[in-house]
Amino acid sequence: MTMNDNFNPITIDEKICNGCGNCVFICGMGVIEMKDKPGSVSGKIASASKPEYCMTCETCVKGCKRKAITLNIYPDSFGI
Ligand code: SF4
Ligand code: SF4
Repeated sequence: MTMNDNFNPITIDEKICNGCGNCVFICGMGVIEMKDKPGSVSGKIASASKPEYCMTCETCVKGCKRKAITLNIYPDSFGI
């Protein structure tokens, strides 16, 4: 399988994310960062800004208490 430049291995549901920032700290690859979301409770929301660094480890999926993150691809898909 070839990774498309526009493909994002994770999806963050902006309607569920409360901007706690936990996923930014637990992702060891620096994939996720917080961006401003005016009008939300925290004023922030998580965004997968560097998807090319994602190792599909699923740590962020398991670490998000809101279950706002979905993994779109699994390591098996790479033939690993
Ligand atoms: S851990 Fe979940 S709720 Fe918190 S910022 Fe990340 S995606 Fe949003
Ligand atoms: S799956 Fe792993 S590498 Fe990818 S964003 Fe989540 S914690 Fe980071």
